Amino acid sequence: MFTLENTIYLWTAIGIIIFPILLRITAPYGRHTTRNWGPMISNNLGWIIMEFPSLLLMPLLFFLSPGEKTWVSWIFPLLWIIHYANRTFIFPLRIRTKGKQMPLLIAIMAIGFNLMNGSINGLYLGNHAQNYTAEWLTDIRFMIGLLLFIGGMAINWQSDTILINLRKPGEKGYKIPYGGMFRWISCPNHFGEIIEWTGFAILTWSISGLAFAIWTAVNLIPRALDHHRWYRETFEDYPADRKAVIPFLW
Ligand code: NDP
Repeated sequence: MFTLENTIYLWTAIGIIIFPILLRITAPYGRHTTRNWGPMISNNLGWIIMEFPSLLLMPLLFFLSPGEKTWVSWIFPLLWIIHYANRTFIFPLRIRTKGKQMPLLIAIMAIGFNLMNGSINGLYLGNHAQNYTAEWLTDIRFMIGLLLFIGGMAINWQSDTILINLRKPGEKGYKIPYGGMFRWISCPNHFGEIIEWTGFAILTWSISGLAFAIWTAVNLIPRALDHHRWYRETFEDYPADRKAVIPFLW
């Protein structure tokens, strides 16, 4: 039957099935950009239009869905907005990619991805909002999830900042990043993002949060592996003991 729950299970299953395929495809944006994927658009504009649907949809659908809202449940759209306000407006204004482009197709696929994740989280959490009473704040799942969310976000922001600052204004090339969690892995921004959404899944204890955490890993682990391979091929002096995305493991 076509229900929100079944849609979320199906979406999660698609993510798991697609993972081994994505491990074999290099997503063509950033350093891996090619012109073989059709028309191109400005990289900075691409980021804004890709991420905006998520920023808008999750809080809107949460608000509009019929479940009775407790004040605790409003923490979920608030955390979402903090993340997506950065990703939609602040991040694209900070990155030093002036003149660079990305395939329009990547932006369209990312819009689809964000429409789906924003909608299922807004609808599911909005419809179940009445379950999150004041006791939820002292529930171990909320406390651990929130710690992971904040810690993951801090790692993500710190790592993105280190990467952005590698270029002086006007520069377009790549350098070896050092500092923060780059000591252990090539892509701590991706690692931080995976931890962040795992935390969101735990703090909401929801299938919609879990679906998004799985999809984030499905997207970002292959990307981090591609970046890691690229670093090792590009820089002879690349630190040999650095892993790709999970410290000491992978
Ligand atoms: P990257 O690490 O590829 O790039 C981040 C920025 O830093 C880009 O502007 C890039 O420039 C620049 N940069 C990266 N490495 C270097 C380097 N060695 N030297 C100089 N500049 C560098 O990140 P992504 O583009 O993959 O992702 C950006 C953010 O979006 C991340 O925080 C990621 O976690 C998040 N994201 C989340 C997804 C999800 O599913 N939730 C999906 C995709 C991204 P350039 O563009 O020129 O390479």
